[in-house]
Amino acid sequence: MRKVYLDYAATTPTDPEVVKAMLPYFTDKFGNPSSIHSFGQEAKAATDEARGKIASFLGAKQEEIIFTSGGTESDNFAIKGAAYANQHKGNHIITSSIEHHAVINSCKFLEKMGFKITYLHVSKDGFVDPEDVKKTITDKTILISVMHASNEIGTIQPISKIGKIAREKEICFHSDAVQTFGHCPINVDELNVDLLSISGHKLCGPKGIGALYIKKGTGMVPFIHGGEQERKRRASTENVPAIVGFGKAVEIAKERMDEEAKKLVVLRDKLIKGIFEKIEHVRLNGHPLKRLPNNVNVSIESAEGESLLLNLDMEGIAASTGSACSSSSLEASHVLLALGLSHELAHGSLRFTLGRYTEKEDIDNVLEVLPRIVEKLRSMSPLWKNG
Ligand SMILES: *Cc1c(COP(=O)(O)O)cnc(C)c1O
Repeated sequence: MRKVYLDYAATTPTDPEVVKAMLPYFTDKFGNPSSIHSFGQEAKAATDEARGKIASFLGAKQEEIIFTSGGTESDNFAIKGAAYANQHKGNHIITSSIEHHAVINSCKFLEKMGFKITYLHVSKDGFVDPEDVKKTITDKTILISVMHASNEIGTIQPISKIGKIAREKEICFHSDAVQTFGHCPINVDELNVDLLSISGHKLCGPKGIGALYIKKGTGMVPFIHGGEQERKRRASTENVPAIVGFGKAVEIAKERMDEEAKKLVVLRDKLIKGIFEKIEHVRLNGHPLKRLPNNVNVSIESAEGESLLLNLDMEGIAASTGSACSSSSLEASHVLLALGLSHELAHGSLRFTLGRYTEKEDIDNVLEVLPRIVEKLRSMSPLWKNG
């Protein structure tokens, strides 16, 4: 049985070309980029090359890219680093109610430290309204953070418009672009962002590596203290193999992104259409068009998400209920609740995220298996009107 992996938003398989590029940096080319000798300089050159590839892909300068341990660290650094750097100007931060936990929980931490946070409501499709951002700004507002696209429902936010508002008021603007990076075009100038988080393992790169774009001149308090690596912004010996792999993943994404997105949109829409044709009482979460090319999120009435997942897994299909981070807790997704879904519908939601190695036969497989599973679960559900 071909196993069907449809959880690319949680993580992706590392591209074999990426692994190949990384391997020498564990063995022959093992130097520390801070060392003066040839081993060190070889490693330094490799990290600079990767940094250059990432910068040019974002329309940024090489010195504006700081490597981190992943998207979570980039988000933490962005929120806390900017908040503390601007503390003298005010203590108000604006974000949305559908952010990744890396942003939400960083904000909650700052709330305990005396900062005031506004969590903006979103529309039923999951959009933040730029007008709401504008209305919420006070003379104490020092930071705005809105994600580029939702990891759960795939909705792509009007980042450029929000950024324009932030820029007019000279307020630092951060966006978590972990889900769009390598999948949709990103230009930091067009998006009007000062800070942008990205991660390696969501675009067929290695895990444990990410980066934060920091626009030149943006005030930031470093939050890992130690040596002088990463322009004194982030101490610790660079994860050279992962950085090289991240660079390679970006090089591949640059070549294939447009073509891959076109392929995924077709498969995504085939899956959505098929689910609606074969199963009644379902709801698509997120906007039908302004969504990630690879994201399908549906709520299925009277079918519990965890049971759907377990049954799919038994048939060799890997999906998710909302986000990987909340799947071990039984809480309903904060994102689906923010859309106005009932707890029951939020619990009956399934997320399929497609990627580089997804084939048409995988989608056909889901469309054959899922309706059967739903029927079985509904026949046992007290909530479903049997017959
Ligand atoms: C995966 C993800 C993160 C976390 O990135 P890691 O590299 O796993 O720490 C942050 N934000 C979004 C939107 C994500 O999808």
